[in-house]
Amino acid sequence: MRWGMVIDLRKCIGCGACALVCGQVNKMPTNLWRRVFDCGISETPERQRTCLPMSCMHCSKAPCHEVCPTAATFRRDDGIIDINYELCIGCGYCMVACPYMARSIVFQNEYDSGADRIGVCSKCNFCLPRIDSGLVKGLKPGLDSEASPMCVVSCAADALCFGNLDDPDSTVAQLIRENKAVSLQEELGTDPAVYYLVD
Ligand code: SF4
Ligand code: SF4
Repeated sequence: MRWGMVIDLRKCIGCGACALVCGQVNKMPTNLWRRVFDCGISETPERQRTCLPMSCMHCSKAPCHEVCPTAATFRRDDGIIDINYELCIGCGYCMVACPYMARSIVFQNEYDSGADRIGVCSKCNFCLPRIDSGLVKGLKPGLDSEASPMCVVSCAADALCFGNLDDPDSTVAQLIRENKAVSLQEELGTDPAVYYLVD
């Protein structure tokens, strides 16, 4: 079992709704846990704008996990990289180690984030409270909206898909198999759980 996400760059229109809803549902500033980059317009084969949504890649060989001196960053059995805020000392080692700029620290509680989020590192957790409470109710993350990450639920372009990468019958596995799928900075060997469809 490994939760993962597939992002179809051919469908993403760069509206930023996923980043907006991410901030709202997680009570964090917009564009902190999730951002959508405008990569510009290609010249070939036809003029086409590409937008790149990014958040934590939930790497299986996560540099953030390796450098954390207090074990605040940990990997769950389902592959989600999470942070124990009580153990985090806000040293920022993980922020430096993450090649995807997925982590941040907020120092002021101006977003009603909750006192536990102030001065510690935080990042996308695939909306794990929704996943875990959904599983308790017998729902299927990726298939049932109530148990799926809010960015996936909110994408009007249907560009985002969530599910179990280890299940060959899951929609995410099929999309990766049947399209040209890439992960970012593959050469680093981090083995991200987020894939992008480019063709
Ligand atoms: Fe792209 Fe969907 Fe996010 Fe809009 S909501 S930026 S279409 S991934
Ligand atoms: Fe860690 Fe960054 Fe990988 Fe997320 S994307 S697991 S924060 S190294």
